[in-house]
Amino acid sequence: MRRFSKSFTQQEAIPDTAIDAAVAVMRSGRLHRYNLAEGEQGETALLEQEFAASLGVPYAMACASGGYALQLALRACGLEAGDKVLCNAFTLSPVPGSIVAAGGEPILVDILDDTTVDPADLARAADESGARFFMLSHMRGHIGDMSAIMQVCDSRDITVIEDCAHTMGASYDGKPSGTFGKVGCFSTQTYKHINSGEGGLLACSDDEVMRRAIILSGSYMLYDRHLAAPDAASFDVTRLMTPNMSGRMDNLRAAILRPQLADLQQRKSRWNALYSSMEAGLKGLRGVSLIARFPQEDFVGSSIQFGLEGWGKEKISHFIAGCEARGLPVKWYGKPLPEDYTSRYDSWSYLDNNRPLPNADRVLSTLCDLRLPLTFDVDDCGDIVILIKDALHDSRTLLSVAS
Ligand SMILES: *Cc1c(COP(=O)(O)O)cnc(C)c1O
Repeated sequence: MRRFSKSFTQQEAIPDTAIDAAVAVMRSGRLHRYNLAEGEQGETALLEQEFAASLGVPYAMACASGGYALQLALRACGLEAGDKVLCNAFTLSPVPGSIVAAGGEPILVDILDDTTVDPADLARAADESGARFFMLSHMRGHIGDMSAIMQVCDSRDITVIEDCAHTMGASYDGKPSGTFGKVGCFSTQTYKHINSGEGGLLACSDDEVMRRAIILSGSYMLYDRHLAAPDAASFDVTRLMTPNMSGRMDNLRAAILRPQLADLQQRKSRWNALYSSMEAGLKGLRGVSLIARFPQEDFVGSSIQFGLEGWGKEKISHFIAGCEARGLPVKWYGKPLPEDYTSRYDSWSYLDNNRPLPNADRVLSTLCDLRLPLTFDVDDCGDIVILIKDALHDSRTLLSVAS
């Protein structure tokens, strides 16, 4: 059997400019973000400044991880223990995890066929629960109907925090993802759009929320060393009223990230070339339904999803095994038990969800997912499509003969 030989978890090397910058930080010995020489601004503060500029917002802050940024954003927006937080039923486990870590209670919201949040169910869940927060996840890079979503939230005075782990560099109707809500949270973990192993970024335009986020992140009284922050004199009250929940980024990671951030638009076009090639190849394959995209959506195609509508569990299991035999680690959200990064809301047994989520159940039961690392090229995508076609064909014929 023909096999695809490249690894779906192999990212590109860190660029030489980033390696040189990282080595310079190590040679200096000043890895802690606030450990600066006379007149030095520091890699972390510069990264924040450049990131804020890339989104067109005044403030940004770097921290330990994307999940940490989400927790911090909730606290900075005033979440109190026991507060309910709306959250997409289809998201990654660190999202409900961050709500619980911040002391909140996740209220799951159903999704549409395109995997984005259902604005009608969002309104229902908001009215039933009285939640004052919504953690909106742009899961796997899919941005939902932002005008409908924001209308539901604005009309109810719900604070929106965006989880942009897969939408760094993306926008909706010309507005960058992460600038719709009160806070936008990003991840710089290896599988996201810029890679520092671990890391998070948080973007915001609200003075008080940003002051709190900075103190929460563990700035001590060194917040005047930030370059994308409210005026240091304005911290007088906040600095004494806010606990230090230590989770800073360091200069080494920031040094690795700055050249990658500068190259983000370039990476985005490379990702989208892979995505378009996969999409064109999968389109029209019998049984495969691609996820519709809003015309307003300017996404980063770093992964691709498709459904196998009408296929039962046995047939999909057979297909997944056929893909694995061909070197394709297709992730399936309908697997009975969570595996790798594909846990489903019903695997989070620590939640006591009592909302019916019929669309999420139906859509996730056949939803498949493939990462598209930049170590692949368009020819690789062509090979992947042929192998998927073979696996689809095998599952169809074998199982129809068997039955
Ligand atoms: C990766 C990811 C996160 C969390 O990011 P970490 O940096 O790994 O903590 C949150 N939400 C989604 C959708 C993600 O994919």
